Amino acid sequence: MDFRLKDEQLMIQKTARDFAKKELEPVAKMLDKTKDFSIIIDNLKKLAQLGFMGLAVPECYGGSQAGSIAYSLALTEIGRVCASTAVTMSVTNMVAELLVEFGTELQKQKYIPKLLNGEYAAGSFALTEASAGSDPTNIKTMAVENEDGYLINGSKLFITSAEYAGIIIVWAVTDKQAERGKGMSAFIVERDTPGCIIGKNEEKMGQRRWPCPGRMVPRHLLVDISRLFGVL
Ligand SMILES: Cc1cc2nc3c(=O)[nH]c(=O)nc-3n(C[C@H](O)[C@H](O)[C@H](O)COP(=O)(O)OP(=O)(O)OC[C@H]3O[C@@H](n4cnc5c(N)ncnc54)[C@H](O)[C@@H]3O)c2cc1C
Repeated sequence: MDFRLKDEQLMIQKTARDFAKKELEPVAKMLDKTKDFSIIIDNLKKLAQLGFMGLAVPECYGGSQAGSIAYSLALTEIGRVCASTAVTMSVTNMVAELLVEFGTELQKQKYIPKLLNGEYAAGSFALTEASAGSDPTNIKTMAVENEDGYLINGSKLFITSAEYAGIIIVWAVTDKQAERGKGMSAFIVERDTPGCIIGKNEEKMGQRRWPCPGRMVPRHLLVDISRLFGVL
């Protein structure tokens, strides 16, 4: 078996290394101290222009279709210089890949290009709660169906990029009676939806400018059925 990296993978690795050296290294230390997210957002948009927000996403959705190895090489280079930027980049790639895997065609066409071309600074994924980290089957956030869609109420913790993400994938219980690990669904929530309340950014020991607010608190957040996205 040939374990050597392919030319395209080497090129992506070099592009990421050069970007990290030129754009991230000069500001990484300062980013760790400032509360101003504008530079990190600016860098995320530049990463999108390089095709780094959908490295494993198929070309038909605007992705780079470079595969998981190229993605991990790029992420390693970014993370070596700025862990905050790397976490944000990885969650955005994950959200795009989830949409590819589980989204309806309409959802894919609507959201993937915006995640990949930088129109959205980032994508966000809201699963963790105070009582549900390693064990996500413990989530308490509820989505109750009514004639207009689903009404979501609850509280999420440690949600990377929620403050400025274009969309947040929010997990909630949709069937309380279901067996453990079932009766949960994911919803695509546009960041400016009324009721999508974002808590303050917690101080942390490391990755201090990792844009992770203490809480994302859906309060009477109404999403229509077209935003229902994954069902367990
Ligand atoms: C950089 C970063 C980014 C993150 N971004 C996001 C995000 O974007 N969206 C999101 O939803 N969440 C996010 N999280 C939260 C992350 O998913 C949770 O922190 C993680 O799932 C662990 O949950 P917890 O912190 O509640 O720890 P706990 O689940 O309380 O675990 C604490 C410790 O106990 C151990 N433990 C737990 N259960 C058991 C068991 N049954 N047996 C033995 N040991 C056990 C764990 O291994 C761990 O060492 C992020 C966290 C970090 C650090």
